[in-house]
This record gives sequence, structure tokens and C-alpha cells, in this order.
Amino acid sequence: MTKLKDVWSDADKCMRCANCLASCPVLTTAGFSVFPGPRNVMSEAPRPFEEINATQDLFHLCTTCGHCREVCPSGINTPQAMSLLRSAVVEKGYEDFYIQSAAKSTKKFKNPYTKEQSERCEWSQGFKFSNTSKILFYAGCTYSFNYPDVLKSTINILHQADIEVQYLQENEECCGIMLYDGGYLEEFQAQLEANIKRFEGAGIDLLVTPCPGCFGMIKREYQKFANYNFHVQHFTEFLVDLINQGKLKFKNCDATVTWHDPCHLSRKMRVFDEPRQIIESIPGLKFKEMPNTKYDSFCCGAGGAVLASRADISIKLAMRRIKEAQNIGADIILTMCPACESILEKAIRYLAWEDEDDEDDEEFKLSDSSLKLMDLSTLISQCIH
Ligand code: SF4
Ligand code: SF4
Repeated sequence: MTKLKDVWSDADKCMRCANCLASCPVLTTAGFSVFPGPRNVMSEAPRPFEEINATQDLFHLCTTCGHCREVCPSGINTPQAMSLLRSAVVEKGYEDFYIQSAAKSTKKFKNPYTKEQSERCEWSQGFKFSNTSKILFYAGCTYSFNYPDVLKSTINILHQADIEVQYLQENEECCGIMLYDGGYLEEFQAQLEANIKRFEGAGIDLLVTPCPGCFGMIKREYQKFANYNFHVQHFTEFLVDLINQGKLKFKNCDATVTWHDPCHLSRKMRVFDEPRQIIESIPGLKFKEMPNTKYDSFCCGAGGAVLASRADISIKLAMRRIKEAQNIGADIILTMCPACESILEKAIRYLAWEDEDDEDDEEFKLSDSSLKLMDLSTLISQCIH
């Protein structure tokens, strides 16, 4: 497993090329005085904690979007370093209030939202689940509590394709992403070990989840701490297989759509093509790419626990992304990530307000747009024949 000393040796490899500065969405949106960028954070990191200027902000403003890693000729992995650096500052006694609250809630309530577990599975009433299927559907906290209708769409799609899945209901617990992102790595390890025991106890071969954050945690980060004996897929990967097997047929849908790549799904897990294949398999849909896509996609601003600690920065990033979709003339911006959806839908509303409030302000001037945000599962559910 990567340790802090690896972060220091990573920092030594920096060639000072500044590629990462131009690629960082937080720096280019909030400004150098707010976040000096990955190169400067990494060079600051090895200094004694007491001497680091504005320690907490330095390490808690990165959305862990991974864009800097894509352009770094030295292969410096800033997003991975951030979790370790946050862990180090937590050990030194600095805890961001909002991230600490979410972490405490994860430990006590098994979700970051201080909700009772009985509420987690309210969305599933009326659906039948299997006790013996080798496939486990893992809904994740944010979809379960904030987007129950999207989960209904995912299960509708599975039922249309005659796929039975297990679902853990109240026994499903958080993947631990806020613990990981916040730097509470011991607690994260305890949470992932309990989850693996629960998943393996269900006797599954495959875990499928629509949430990219859960997907990245379970498929990639869990394996750095523990072994398990099942496969993990994002729902878009599972859907492509169903479409290729002819298990889903679509009617004509007339709209111009674009796809927002969630950072956890795209840059982190390299799932770029599957959502585009799904969209292109629906007749009538006109697909347009935004200028920043795939490896070069622009972060929505919600990741790395920044939405919890600095929502003002998250919303600025999200507004930039929404403007990209508006400028290509899309009717619908599609994605499949509850964190992205949460901030992007706020950005659509904020932009509309700014447009009403200050029609002369060119910076926030809206093109005439009726852009809608939609989860890909919702669209598919509506287009199934
Ligand atoms: S991971 Fe993203 S937000 Fe964080 S430093 Fe790199 S480019 Fe900036
Ligand atoms: S892109 Fe990599 S090598 Fe270049 S300045 Fe940034 S961290 Fe250093």
C-alpha cells in the first residue's frame, strides 16, 4: 500500500513543467490565491506540518478529479497523495468540520447523511429481489437517500431484461468514500472489511452498482487493503452486456444529448466507452460531445469531499460544466453519478438566477437554454420498448 514516504518521493520527481496547473479545475476556476494547484501542494507537503501555510485548505480543496495526473510527465498521482495527506493532517488534529461530520455519521449511521438505515431501502418497496442470485445490486448511500426514483429506474431496466439480483436492503452500508476522502483511513479499512464480509456472505460472483464513487472504492481502493473473491461492475458496463445480448430493445427517442464523464468513472476507472455505446444504441438520440470529454473531462466539483467542505467552489466548477453543455446546444446532459447530479442540477438553477439577476454580466450570461439534467438510467427506462 502507498505510504506517505511514497508521496515525498513522488514530489521529488516533479520537473516543474506546470502542465498540472493549467489542468486543475479548482485552480483555474477559484484562482491561485485559493488553491495554488497540484505542483505547489505537492512541493509544500513534505515540509513540517506547523510550517505549512493554510494546511487545511491546501489539502481539502482538491476534488481528486485526476486531471493533473493525466498530464503529468512524471506520473505524479496527486489524487492518491491527497487522501494520505489528509490522513496526516487528521492525525495532527486538524479536522474539517463538515468532513468530520460526514465521517462520524458514516461510523454511527452507516451512511454520511445521519439517516436511519430503514430509510435507505424505502425506494425498493414493491420490487422483488432474489435471495440466491449470484449478482448483488449495491445502490450506495447517495442514490438511496437522494435519488430513489433513479434506483427504481435501474431495477425496472433489470426486470425488463429478466435479470434477478440480490439487494441487501437495510443491511447495505456505506462504501466508506467519505472516510477515504477525508483521510480517516483506519475507519475506512474497518468499513471495507465489514462490507466485504457481508458481500461474500451473500455468495455472489458479481457486484453491480450505479454509483461511480462506490464503484471506484469497492473495485480499486478496497483491493489495496484486502482481498475478495467477486467481480465488480459499474451499471453502464453491465448494461452494455445486456444490450449486446439483445436483452434490451429501445423505441425512438427524439433529443440532443451529451454525456458528462464522472471523474470516478472515467479518469479513475477508465470507463469511457460504455455510456457512449448505450446512448448510441437508442434510436433517434442525437449525441454531441462537450469540448472536454473522456481523459480531458471537466470535473463537476463535487468530488474529494469538496462539496461537503467548500460548496461555493463546487458550484463554480459545476457552472462551467453546465455552460459547456449549453453551448453545444444539448437538450439533456446525461450522467450516472449521484454526486455529479447533485451539484450539476444546482448549477443549472444558479445560472438561471444569475441570468435573471444580471443580464449585463457577460461572465454568467446564459445562452437561451432549456438544458435538463438526467440520469442515464432514467432515460433508458423511458426509452425501453
Ligand atoms: S486532482 Fe484535480 S482538483 Fe486535485 S490537484 Fe489534481 S487537477 Fe486539481
Ligand atoms: S505536471 Fe507533474 S512534473 Fe509537471 S509541474 Fe505538475 S506535478 Fe510537476
